[in-house]
Amino acid sequence: MLTEQIESAVASFRALLVEQIARTGEMEKAPPAKDYKNMEKIRVGLVDGDGIGPIIMREAKRVLACVLADQVAFGRVELVDIAGLTLENRIEKGKAIPDDVLAAIKSCDVLLKGPTTTPKGGTMESANVAMRRELDLYANVRPVALPGQGIDWTFFRENTEGEYVLGSRGVEIPGKLAMDFKVTTVAGTRRIARAAFEYARNNGKKSVAIVTKANIMKKTDGSFSAICHEIAAEYPEITAEDWYIDIMTANLVNEKIRSRFEVFLLPNLYGDIITDEAAQIQGGVGTAGSANIGDRYAMFEAIHGSAPRMIEEGIGEYANPESILRAAVMLLSHIGLQEEADRLKNALDTCAAERRVFVTGDRDGATCAAYADYVMETLNK
Ligand code: NAD
Repeated sequence: MLTEQIESAVASFRALLVEQIARTGEMEKAPPAKDYKNMEKIRVGLVDGDGIGPIIMREAKRVLACVLADQVAFGRVELVDIAGLTLENRIEKGKAIPDDVLAAIKSCDVLLKGPTTTPKGGTMESANVAMRRELDLYANVRPVALPGQGIDWTFFRENTEGEYVLGSRGVEIPGKLAMDFKVTTVAGTRRIARAAFEYARNNGKKSVAIVTKANIMKKTDGSFSAICHEIAAEYPEITAEDWYIDIMTANLVNEKIRSRFEVFLLPNLYGDIITDEAAQIQGGVGTAGSANIGDRYAMFEAIHGSAPRMIEEGIGEYANPESILRAAVMLLSHIGLQEEADRLKNALDTCAAERRVFVTGDRDGATCAAYADYVMETLNK
C-alpha cells in the first residue's frame, strides 16, 4: 500500500516537473515588453468589480476623465468601460472571468480594477488569481511611503511562482506526511529582478534589497538570490544587498534603520507577508494602491477588498476612494504619463494633509463623491 502511494506521488511529481519546464519555455519565448511611451493610443480598461467596487470606480472614472481630459481629447488615451466582472455573472457563467469579459480585458493595455468578491468555500477561483495567470502579471508592486519618517519603500513581489504556483498540487500520504512544492525558475526570476532594477534606475534609487531565506531554502531561494545578482551586475550604479526575510521583517519596525531601505525584491510568499506588514506601518487600507504588472498587460487596484458589509449596511456611498485613486497614479506613471501622475499624486497628498473633506467609511464622514469633488477641485487649482 505504502509503496503504491509513493509511486503515485512520484508520478505526480514527474508530471509537475514536465509542466513547469514547459512553463519556463513559454517565458523564454515571450516577446519584449510593451513600450507604452511609443504607442499611438493606449486603451485603459475600467472594471467595476463587486461591493463598493462600482462606487469607488464611478468616482475614479470622474477623476481620471478630469486628469486625462487632454490625452483623451487628442486620442492618445481611450477610457473603456468593461462590464460583467461581477460575482453574479461569474457564478452564472461558472468562470472566474467570463470569456467575453476576458476578451474585453485583453483588448485593453492596462486596467484599473475595483475589488472583486471571492466567495468562501465552493470552487469559484478568485478573479484576481485568474487575472494574474491569464495576463501573466508577474510583478506585484506596492509603494509604501511615510514622508514624515523618511520612509519611501517600493516592494517588488514575484507574483506567479514560489509556493503559489503549485499551491493546491502538493502530495499527501495520509497518516504519514504531506508535501508542497516551491518553484523558482530562471526565466521567472530574471523578469521580476529586471522589473525591480529598472524601476530603481528610472527613479534614482541607490539600492535594492534582495530578501530570501537562502540559508535554509538553498535551491529555490539560493537560485532566486543568485539570479537577482546576475541581473544586478547590469545596473552597476545600484547596490544589491542580500537580506534574510526574518531579520527584514524586524527591520521594518526598527525606526533606527528602516528609512535606509528603498526597493525590495522578494519571492512570492515573503512578499505577500511583508507587504501587509508594510501597509499596516503606513496606516492601513486607504493609503496605497497596488499594481500587478506583466510585459503585455498591467492591472492596478486598491489594496482593500469589496467591503460587502458596507453595502449590506447601506453605507457604500461613504467608501473611501483614496486607495483606488493612488492605484490610478501608479497606472498613469506606468503608461508614461508622469506629468498627469504627479498632478494627481500631489492633489491626493494635499487632500490627505489638509483634510478639509474627510472620509471615515461611515455616515459621520464625507461621501465618496464629495471626496472625489475635493480631489478634482485641488487638481484644478
Ligand atoms: P475588505 O478590505 O473588503 O474590508 C476590510 C475592512 O475595511 C472592512 O471593515 C471594510 O468596511 C473596510 N474597508 C475596505 N475598503 C474600504 C474603503 N474603501 N473605505 C472604507 N472602508 C473600507 O476585506 P474583507 O472583508 O476581508 O474582504 C471582502 C471581500 O473582498 C472578500 O470577498 C475578499 O475576497 C475580497 N477581496 C478582494 C480583493 C481584490 O479584489 N483585490 C482584495 C482583498 C479582498
